[in-house]
Amino acid sequence: MDVDAHHAQTDDADRFRALITATSDVVYRMSPDWSQVRLLAGREFVAQATDSGRVWMERDVHPDDRALMQSAIDEAIRDTKPLDLEHRILRSDGTGGWTRSRAVPMLTRDGEIVEWIGTASDVTARKQVESSLREADRRKDELLATLAHELRNPLAPIRNAVHFMKLHALPDEELRGARDIIDRQLQHMIRLVDDLLDVSRITLGQITLRIDRVPLRRALEDALDAVAPAALAAGHELDVQLPPPDIEIAADATRVSQIFQNLLDNAIKYTPQGGRIVLRAERADGHVRVSVSDSGIGIPAERQERIFDFFTRAQPDDGIKTNGLGIGLSLARQLVELHGGRIEVESEGPDRGSVFSVYLPSTAHAAAAEPAPAPAPAKLADAATRRVLVVDDNRDAADSLAMILEMSGTQVAVAYDGAQALVLIEEETPDVVLMDIGMPVMDGYEVARRIRSTPGGERFRLVALTGWGQADDKQRALETGFDEHLTKPVDPAVLAELLASGAARRLSP
Ligand code: ADP
Repeated sequence: MDVDAHHAQTDDADRFRALITATSDVVYRMSPDWSQVRLLAGREFVAQATDSGRVWMERDVHPDDRALMQSAIDEAIRDTKPLDLEHRILRSDGTGGWTRSRAVPMLTRDGEIVEWIGTASDVTARKQVESSLREADRRKDELLATLAHELRNPLAPIRNAVHFMKLHALPDEELRGARDIIDRQLQHMIRLVDDLLDVSRITLGQITLRIDRVPLRRALEDALDAVAPAALAAGHELDVQLPPPDIEIAADATRVSQIFQNLLDNAIKYTPQGGRIVLRAERADGHVRVSVSDSGIGIPAERQERIFDFFTRAQPDDGIKTNGLGIGLSLARQLVELHGGRIEVESEGPDRGSVFSVYLPSTAHAAAAEPAPAPAPAKLADAATRRVLVVDDNRDAADSLAMILEMSGTQVAVAYDGAQALVLIEEETPDVVLMDIGMPVMDGYEVARRIRSTPGGERFRLVALTGWGQADDKQRALETGFDEHLTKPVDPAVLAELLASGAARRLSP
């Protein structure tokens, strides 16, 4: 068929009619100021045909979106430019929906608007899918936060029990071996769970840094200490050049060492037995650059950008077995960016090793170079704690904590709920109360409040032990009358230090 000849026989008006019949959209004509509206096609989708722009606005457009629609129209008229807007409407069947409204002005030669031609497409189904995806995503974040938190609870008593076993000299070498296995795997679990918690905090926007002047060397040493056993076990050579102690960064020390721990962990993990791992730090223009290089399996160019995304991990066909969740690098990147730095990867490809470089602002140039205020002088007397009350509705957690405290010569009473705690605090008059927050019936906040409001109740030293370790959780604990806040599972060494720091709460009478 001769298409051109056929076209010549069809005039523009016919073609226009065919077009608006074929489209599933609503098609309108509007007067230059939109006061007159003429519906051309798609009658069934809107409520009723009307010629009045005002009626159309008040009847078809959702009340909450009218102002938005009106200002988009005003702007389009003022600038003589097309309008394109998604908004809610009332459909002819009385149900609500979403449309995408588009309109183009038809202009005279002088640029005056003659009329508008507009279309409205029903995008309700897409909007519904989008909203259910967003909802699912939000639930996933919440699930992750809850999951990590719940996983932490059983780790606390296990950690205590292992510590207890360490305090008892185990005569049998096999038993010692078994205990050390539990200890190592537990450390691994604690890190995984902590990473999971961090992921959900980052996605929920809840991570806050405690910025301080940090000697870079110290942060790197901490990271190295944590990974040294794994490097040794894998038979890797560690080639480390620590920076001079005077290089300081404005950073959250724990987070910085977490970043390098993740990078070093990966270098160890993704390098076959007996490889070489190099850590270098140098000053660059207003920055410090720390690089972690390995002689391992390398990363193909096309994967290099993606490895920083959450839950991106090695695939089975990469031929390596990993035990990670695919969050280490994304956490590292997020934390680096929170510090105002950046992270880069280079690899010449499979089996050519990888280099991860982290750039962090050094103190002189850092935005947050203000040193954190010096810690308040210890308000605690210098005598060792004699009597402790442990309060936790998780009996294993309470008993195991009591066990390790007793080992170090402390007298311990245990309460499994808030009411019992209030009784024991009267009877036992402990120096320190270590209290779980999330307990049924009467939670830790309530117990603390009651203790503080009874005469003499201000003399006890109250320490909150919780799975929720965010700044505002700490704040809340302090406001309710706690003196300290520790996040579970508590490191026994931290606890020992806290108890050694004194018994009496206040120095003043
Ligand atoms: P995980 O190690 O838990 O899988 P990460 O986020 O730490 O998660 O790393 C994501 C992926 O990036 C890894 O699964 C691995 O494929 C790749 N990767 C990370 N570091 C290295 C490295 N040093 N050498 C080779 N591949 C690496």
